[in-house]
Amino acid sequence: MSSIVLDSSINLTLPEWLQKCLNSSSANDRKQGETTLIRQAFEFAYELHQNQYRKSGEPYICHPIAVAGLLREFGGSAAMIAAGFLHDVVEDTDITIDEIEQHFGVEVRQLVEGVTKLSKLNFKSKTESQAENFRRMFLAMAQDIRVIVVKLADRLHNMRTLQHLPEEKRRRIALETREIFAPLANRLGMWRVKSELEDLAFKYLEPDAYEQILQYAAENQITRQQRLTTSMETLRQRLQQAEIECLEISERSKHLYSIYQRILLPQKDYQEIYDLAVLRIIVKTHEECYRALAVVHDIFRPIPGRFQDYIGLPKPNNYQSLHTVVVSSTGKLLEVQIRTLEMDYLAEYGITAYWRLTHSLNSCALPNQYNQQKLSEFAWLNEIVACNDEICDASEYMRSIKNDLTMEEIYVFTPKGDLISLPSKSTPVDFAYKIHTNVGNRLAKVKINGEDANEITMLTTGDTVEILTDSNAEPKLGWVKQVATNKAKNAIRRWYKYQYKSESKSKLLKEYPTPIVSLGFICVDRIGILKDIIEKFYRYEINVQAVYVETNTNGIAKINVSIESGDAEKLNECIREVSRISDVLDFRVV
Ligand code: MN
Repeated sequence: MSSIVLDSSINLTLPEWLQKCLNSSSANDRKQGETTLIRQAFEFAYELHQNQYRKSGEPYICHPIAVAGLLREFGGSAAMIAAGFLHDVVEDTDITIDEIEQHFGVEVRQLVEGVTKLSKLNFKSKTESQAENFRRMFLAMAQDIRVIVVKLADRLHNMRTLQHLPEEKRRRIALETREIFAPLANRLGMWRVKSELEDLAFKYLEPDAYEQILQYAAENQITRQQRLTTSMETLRQRLQQAEIECLEISERSKHLYSIYQRILLPQKDYQEIYDLAVLRIIVKTHEECYRALAVVHDIFRPIPGRFQDYIGLPKPNNYQSLHTVVVSSTGKLLEVQIRTLEMDYLAEYGITAYWRLTHSLNSCALPNQYNQQKLSEFAWLNEIVACNDEICDASEYMRSIKNDLTMEEIYVFTPKGDLISLPSKSTPVDFAYKIHTNVGNRLAKVKINGEDANEITMLTTGDTVEILTDSNAEPKLGWVKQVATNKAKNAIRRWYKYQYKSESKSKLLKEYPTPIVSLGFICVDRIGILKDIIEKFYRYEINVQAVYVETNTNGIAKINVSIESGDAEKLNECIREVSRISDVLDFRVV
């Protein structure tokens, strides 16, 4: 039985599941242990957050309760639900992370630690503190992917209650949600969370467009549904005749933000955007998916180039389904998605579906690729964690992880037929560095589908790529701007930094002889590099007297900056920061 007395003077209604948990005297031992953990975590958080209130005026504990509730909905374990209750206590109360471990064990500690932000006082700028917190979060995720699910539950509840915050903060949180958390949910295949986060961010970032689309979508839904009735009836009959057991045929509307994104595309066809209806057919087996597809294409004329087989070739987040676009009985376009019940479940709930399925079904019912081992192999996560060490500059780091998270993927083959996944717009250089740094550094010749090709050709799904190496070959610096992966970019820069490793660094730490110092930076020639460098001087309040830029054809820019030397220590600090920009390869005192 519960050991705390809830303060009756505050207005707090506990959800039913939590009340049950607080009053339970459970049947078996394992369940009892889990219930106790959840109850103790709640009581601990309740007492610590007492007398704290949210901007909405609600008692603070409402937020951890909601987050724990979401984690429970996702099918999270007792430790995750406990972490949901405790996720803000280290940040907002005097409790330390060690005390969490003493009370709740190391598993809960790790989950809470991964979502706890560092104190803001330790940082020079907002960008820097944001970057440091993300570095920590990704590192924690690489150790335990569930950290991000706790963080997503936290963010989802904060987004649902965003209206209580001041305008500026709202925009900042909504933007971060769109750029980082929605793509993360997408990477984990958590479609429901992803689309809710996107729609909420949309509501706060483009309120006018949001209202318009909301209204239009509501008006359109009724006519669209009426229009679809005939097509659905025909389909149902024909599937029955073919003896395919159809568990469900239903109409799906697209979420608002995805409609908005389509409107922003060039060459849009408004009618198609708004009219495009989605029908989902759920059948029992893989084989029936393909047979159902045959039926669909037999009844309705398919549109060329719009069929996709994500069952044979699942998306990187394990999404599986058949997609096709056909002309329906009314002459309008109709997107049809065909999948099994398990695929549907995984498409909606992603990584967390696995937990839910193991709770509710016999785990043998799961297809092989969803075993836990597979779920822990996230290639994209490893790429992001690699950035942690490679990129020191805070704004560059943020740019790079946003980029990594939102990139679409393509699949190409090695000559032996091994499947390699790469971000879209990847080149053979990216492919080579993905295989091994030395293959990239020694790349001499490229063949795509058996034919000689340029090393920076854009690859497309299905290409077979062959790399021929030569021990005398060297990477070209110009590739830095043409490759898509951070791995290739960083490897090329590292190779050049090594080439340029010069005598001059120690000079800097001495006193400067003259009031005006001229510094020469050797950089990768890209748009914005001059701004990035000058910004650092500005931030250190160092007066820049003159700038001279010289570029040459091999992709290198020489930037000479004359500055007032003033405080030598401050200047050295600033120069150290400039050299941390990864496109700055070297510097010297001129
Ligand atoms: Mn929180």
